[in-house]
Amino acid sequence: MDQRNRNNNIGSRRTSFPSRTPSTARKRKPRRKKKSAAPVIVIVAFAVILALLWIINGFRIEIEFQGEAPLERVSFGGSYTAPEAKAFLKGRLIFRDGIEVETEQSGKVDVNNVGSYTLVWKASKLWYSAEKTLKVEVIDDAPPVITLVPDEREYVLPDGNYDDPGYSAYDAQDGDVTENVKVEIRDDGVAYTVTDSAGNRASAFREVLFKDPEAPVITLEGGAFLTLTAGKDEYKEPGFSATDNLDGDVTEKVEIEGSVDVSKPGLYRLTYRVSDSYGNVAEAVRTVTVAAEPNSSITDENSKFIYLTFDDGPGTYTAELLDILAKYQVKVTFFVTSLGDHTLIKREKDEGHSVGVHTYSHRYDIVYASDEAFLEDLTKINEIVKAQTGSYTYLLRFPGGSSNTISHDNAGIMTRLAKKVQEMGYQYFDWNVDSGDAVSKPKKENIIEAVKAGCSKKKNSVVLMHDVKRETVDAIEDIIVWGLENGYTFLPLNMSSPTAHHKIYN
Ligand code: ZN
Repeated sequence: MDQRNRNNNIGSRRTSFPSRTPSTARKRKPRRKKKSAAPVIVIVAFAVILALLWIINGFRIEIEFQGEAPLERVSFGGSYTAPEAKAFLKGRLIFRDGIEVETEQSGKVDVNNVGSYTLVWKASKLWYSAEKTLKVEVIDDAPPVITLVPDEREYVLPDGNYDDPGYSAYDAQDGDVTENVKVEIRDDGVAYTVTDSAGNRASAFREVLFKDPEAPVITLEGGAFLTLTAGKDEYKEPGFSATDNLDGDVTEKVEIEGSVDVSKPGLYRLTYRVSDSYGNVAEAVRTVTVAAEPNSSITDENSKFIYLTFDDGPGTYTAELLDILAKYQVKVTFFVTSLGDHTLIKREKDEGHSVGVHTYSHRYDIVYASDEAFLEDLTKINEIVKAQTGSYTYLLRFPGGSSNTISHDNAGIMTRLAKKVQEMGYQYFDWNVDSGDAVSKPKKENIIEAVKAGCSKKKNSVVLMHDVKRETVDAIEDIIVWGLENGYTFLPLNMSSPTAHHKIYN
């Protein structure tokens, strides 16, 4: 109430005392102000200009990346370095090049975690500030790595049972992804593929040759070597079978090439051939010897016989020789000494060969010292033969042959002994074909040629050889094959065989 009254009082006071003074003061005062306005205007104008310049200049802070454009995508597990950024306070007119201002960077990129990252740079000076951001994506763009276990095999059987030697797959992001690998067996190999969780696909290929390397196996019943007697035996196929690792029994597909003529002595080869569905060929050969029977009325006059005789053994190579003879079922004659393994004499006899005596000592000075000395030596070796074979032998070959002249110191001894041994029931044998193997260093080829040349001229060949010679045993297979192929029949000597006696010179 007091205030309102006071206002009212003032108001009423102004209305109650009007005055002219205010109007005269108003007119004088602007005149005084006009005199002092110039500097103010200048200041104002200057301020305006400064303000305009300030606006035109447009101070601001700019943040700029240094160097190349910054990466916005980084591979998982790779390396990442945030770009360098610099901030400048700049104007259009003043500080056109800018004054560098300190920047502060925040945020970081974790390359070991797939995701989106934001890097922020901030700078401020005075009342200006700026901010720059960079978005960086860590992506999984690397496919897994498939590792194949090396496979040394050159082929795989096409029986559907592919046995993988092994593989593994590893992804930088997903870890071991071996279980996700898809294995596809193709005609030319095996394809492996795997995709990681980010969709990156990896593949590997293993070249595999699907092939059957194994030929069928032919089994010949009755063995690979058969011996028949000409004009007496018949040839009847003893039977065969063939099996293949994939095709199974392929006996029906076996083809036989060749034939056996039992009326004609000779060596016949029957070739059994079969192939499997992969083209692997198997071959088996059956060798059939058709031998002429000696002194048989059935054998024709063209029959030819070879009596291989081996002196001076048993020796180092006798067992090997016996194996070769057994293979071809060829029987020969051994004129033995006491100088080797006596048990081989038993084996010779057991395997169907003829065993004759040659000499116990094979020392000419002892053997031909006297008639009695010869007979003593003869008895000693025949005791060994009896001990080994169960009986004495009456087949004999004189050391040096009946024609030898080594015994010339003892005049007429060979003439006397040849008569004497026959009186005792022996038959002595010389030879009409010399293999030439008695020389110090015989050659296998020479032995073969000498035997071929010697035998080809004769109906009955008694061949001198020595089973204590390496080269002789090396030559024997060629000689047998040649003989059989050319219609010869190999026979062991018996008491009625050709003797091939030499002329006696002493
Ligand atoms: Zn001898």
